[in-house]
Amino acid sequence: MPGSDGDQVLILGGSIAGLLAARVLAERFERVVVVERDPLPQIGEHRRGVPHGRHLHGLHPRGREILDELFPGFTETLTADGAVGCDILGDLRWQLSGYQLRQAAIGLPALFASRPFLEGHVRAMVRRLAGVRILEQRSICGLTTTPDRKTITGAEVRPAAGGEPERITASLVVDATGRGSRTPVWLGDLGYPQPAQDRVEIGLGYATRTYRLRPGAMAGDQMILTAATPANPRTGVLAVTEGGRHMLTIAGIRGDHPPTDAAGFDAFVAALPTADIAAAIAGAHPLDNPVPFRFPASVRHRYERLTRFPARLLVIGDAICSFNPVYGQGITVAAVQAMTLRRLLTRPAVPDARRYFRAIAAAIDVPWDIAVGADLAFPQIPGPRPAKVRLINSYLPRLHHAATRDDTLATALVRVIGLKDRPQTLLRPDRVIRVLHGNLAADAVCAAPKPAKGWPSGGGGHLGIEVPGDEPRPLPARDRPG
Ligand SMILES: Cc1cc2nc3c(=O)[nH]c(=O)nc-3n(C[C@H](O)[C@H](O)[C@H](O)COP(=O)(O)OP(=O)(O)OC[C@H]3O[C@@H](n4cnc5c(N)ncnc54)[C@H](O)[C@@H]3O)c2cc1C
Repeated sequence: MPGSDGDQVLILGGSIAGLLAARVLAERFERVVVVERDPLPQIGEHRRGVPHGRHLHGLHPRGREILDELFPGFTETLTADGAVGCDILGDLRWQLSGYQLRQAAIGLPALFASRPFLEGHVRAMVRRLAGVRILEQRSICGLTTTPDRKTITGAEVRPAAGGEPERITASLVVDATGRGSRTPVWLGDLGYPQPAQDRVEIGLGYATRTYRLRPGAMAGDQMILTAATPANPRTGVLAVTEGGRHMLTIAGIRGDHPPTDAAGFDAFVAALPTADIAAAIAGAHPLDNPVPFRFPASVRHRYERLTRFPARLLVIGDAICSFNPVYGQGITVAAVQAMTLRRLLTRPAVPDARRYFRAIAAAIDVPWDIAVGADLAFPQIPGPRPAKVRLINSYLPRLHHAATRDDTLATALVRVIGLKDRPQTLLRPDRVIRVLHGNLAADAVCAAPKPAKGWPSGGGGHLGIEVPGDEPRPLPARDRPG
């Protein structure tokens, strides 16, 4: 059994955020105990506690870099095991606001694999760390405290199959139990204020299906992302995954949810803002039935604003903030949070909660603003739209338009999406001038993609955004090396 001395940390939840917290805490604590409710499967297999694992999971460049830093050889190991590496702009077809970004190899690698594959590999790497133990099939029932309730001393844990709870003591407890985190409730029970919540009601519905595509269906690309537009708020992402399969996730907001019967699923795909995905899956062999997921709201708990909080308790990952998953930020933000935690660890002290939550809030601000700002471009989504949000949301389609021809702009944009650069970089004067130029110059007007050559439009070839006077033109020539 885990010991009760002071050099032990207890992590609640053994998904991505919990595993990454374990990785950095193992540098400072003799023993790290991760408690997870699920039985933990082999690499690549699904599990109950992560139902979102059945849906497409992209890993942004910033997240991949952190994983490489925390687990040297991470990218090579996953690639050797079947994950697909590629260039984030050269090999991916980004269709934003109805415009396709100019493709050019920029030397920024992306990695494609399914969520169970990714998580399974991270778990295997964490299991190999000295001092780390993962206790599976144990459910957290609550926290334990000192009699004055000022300090958390551990947690009560019950076997998932039922039975008597046991107490695990620790000098630091980290809650990584995801969106369903009970910390706000536990705080209330202990007489502390609960954190305020920022909430953006998106009413998102997902459906995902896996395929074996016909050869050449992606025309050499590894992903096609057709983003929702205000005129057609449906998103589709078709991406390669390990084993040469392709996963297609489609999504709609505020109740416009994709059906999960095959015909309804295909009809939703055909009505995406461009026809490229419908064309790519034409003639494909489906490997499963569409699986649904509902995501009512992006939620951010403002722990950093609390004036009273018990000592020796921290929160990480989706338990603090969960974003509209369409933007694929969660794992990267969990990784950034783990690095923030690492920075604050000074042996033998555990990080001060106030300092920690402030640093985490600063790390969350940018991805939260990106996701929420983009969501507020859709009139269906309720929420205040300050002038800054309105300005950026009228600038972005123009940027996307100009980036159909301009490598520099396309590169700057995917670096921001990949959480490598701050969004402010898109507002640099030289870039604003390029955007203006790209929108004014007659020969720079480049319509959003038509159906890929030789394939039927599937009825979805119309564009979400119309530029007066534009005639649809062929896609810009690829700038692929070789
Ligand atoms: C549909 C969907 C698609 C997404 N796509 C992407 C993407 O493309 N890219 C990306 O980066 N992110 C994506 N995300 C977000 C990403 O999955 C999460 O941000 C990431 O998994 C980090 O989550 P977490 O570890 O904090 O929580 P979770 O993954 O939710 O894990 C919580 C863990 O805690 C365990 N647990 C919960 N309660 C208890 C308890 N009482 N006792 C013991 N264990 C417990 C659960 O079993 C689970 O293992 C997506 C999310 C969704 C919903």
